[in-house]
Amino acid sequence: MLPSWIPGSYLLREFARHVVAIEAEDAHGPVPLEQTAKGTWVAAGAEGELMVRATVHAYDLSVRGAYFDRQRAFFNGTSLFLLPEGHESTRIELTLERPRFAAAGWRVATAMRPEAVDAAGFGRYVADDYDELIDHPFEIGDFAVVEFTAASVPHRFAIAGRIETDLDRLATDLAQLCTAQIDFFGRPAPFGHYVFLGLAVGNGYGGLEHRASTSLIFKRGDLPKPGETGVPRDYQRFLALVSHEYFHSWHVKRSKPAAFMPYRLDRRNHTSLLWVFEGVTSYYQDLFLLRSGLIGRDVYLRRLGELLTRVYRVPGRRHQSLAAASFNAWDQLYKPDANSVNAGISYYSKGALVALALDLHLRANGQGDLDQLVLSLWQRFGREGRGLPEDGFEALAAEIGGEGTREFFAAAVRGTGDPDLAALFERFGLRFVLRQTEGPRDAGGTSPTLGHARLSLGASFEPAGGGLRLTTVLDGQPAQGAGLAPGDIIVALDRIQAGVDTLEERLGRYEEGDEVVVSFFRGDLLCEARLRLASAPADTCFIQVDAGAPAEAAALRRAWLGD
Ligand SMILES: [Zn+2]
Repeated sequence: MLPSWIPGSYLLREFARHVVAIEAEDAHGPVPLEQTAKGTWVAAGAEGELMVRATVHAYDLSVRGAYFDRQRAFFNGTSLFLLPEGHESTRIELTLERPRFAAAGWRVATAMRPEAVDAAGFGRYVADDYDELIDHPFEIGDFAVVEFTAASVPHRFAIAGRIETDLDRLATDLAQLCTAQIDFFGRPAPFGHYVFLGLAVGNGYGGLEHRASTSLIFKRGDLPKPGETGVPRDYQRFLALVSHEYFHSWHVKRSKPAAFMPYRLDRRNHTSLLWVFEGVTSYYQDLFLLRSGLIGRDVYLRRLGELLTRVYRVPGRRHQSLAAASFNAWDQLYKPDANSVNAGISYYSKGALVALALDLHLRANGQGDLDQLVLSLWQRFGREGRGLPEDGFEALAAEIGGEGTREFFAAAVRGTGDPDLAALFERFGLRFVLRQTEGPRDAGGTSPTLGHARLSLGASFEPAGGGLRLTTVLDGQPAQGAGLAPGDIIVALDRIQAGVDTLEERLGRYEEGDEVVVSFFRGDLLCEARLRLASAPADTCFIQVDAGAPAEAAALRRAWLGD
């Protein structure tokens, strides 16, 4: 059988759809294969040793699949390696041959254990079982490499794609970041060496975690430029991605839901705990940029404001709890549509918000902190190879924070209200402010610059044929009140042409409560509706240090964020 999904990415991808040919033979000759499910074949009547030969189309540039062209090859075992059912625990040998057209500079990067390989890394590898076989992706080609040591563990970063960057700086910064995380969870690291497999592209962003490696895709412009100092926003993005995936080495690859032990690769593996692993990791990714000294407190607070803004802009958080968002990942987060923003919430961003709120709640009450919780999860479950039961994180939290913590979970994890962040931040001498968004480019995290209130349609849009095509229409906002829907193309306001470039200026001529006539196409029909304008909602946050806060609050803040 070939897996339907790859651990870490919760969508049935049915990798078998890329199998273009498959045949089998035993000592007596060809054996017919009967396909019994999308990824399952049965070789009935085979005797002794069975040889199965599969040809797989590999042209997926993402970190989740397999890719092969004349410049490079990349693969996850889930795309290529058939599992003989019943042999999940059998030791497996993998022989990697150098492609005939490979240029002289081609070599191999992987965290899989080599057994007999040449200087470039072609040859024989071994995995103790199938789960390990599919948890070591391979990058093959003429890539750049930078090496560094963190907490005595050798690390290798292979970067494919065209790049112009400062590799020495990368090594220094990443060594700092990785050391901070290893020291957090405790030496020795649970891996003897670690490999980053990076692909630098014009536009792209994502990663997938593995037990001793990670696959990353990022903009080449996010890498530090030669001679550059400081940590600009694009480099912050890159570092945050690395920090996130590396944190997963402990927190989801080893500490993980019992529902994933073992992974059942032919079906959805539901768990209400994804927020614990993705949300908590999203919270720590930036915290470790701060703790390892790569960014300062003000940059951290700005990034935190941006993260929280991504939650406050989603009306669907009022309908879907974090637990439900986690459970439904397979058919919601991984299958977004135009109404997702009204129907649900991301367990990444809301999960990070709740991780933050829980951390502040514990710290403010003098009952430990989230570090203690994540570490006890690691020490009692991850490190011991025990899966976390569905109620396990809450139980650990209640041990640390007292039974009152269960109320926090009822509201923030199983409920749909917003934690009172303003009150929590105040205990830390910080002001949490919600303000109007100032336009489509406003990601939040900063104080307002517009001196006046702004009207908005309550929809997002893209340019289309001189008008505006609505991509999302937010619950309870003016566009929805007028009956507009995603896909509609607005062409005029009060019968004067409206476009993406002129919208802000046009809206600026009206007052809150004014009605405008909206002309729009739905399909090929020209329609009209009356739309009552309203102020843009206060869905954009920023966090400021309150210089006049009491000493006790400032002390709590320093304990959390440093000076
Ligand atoms: Zn993640």
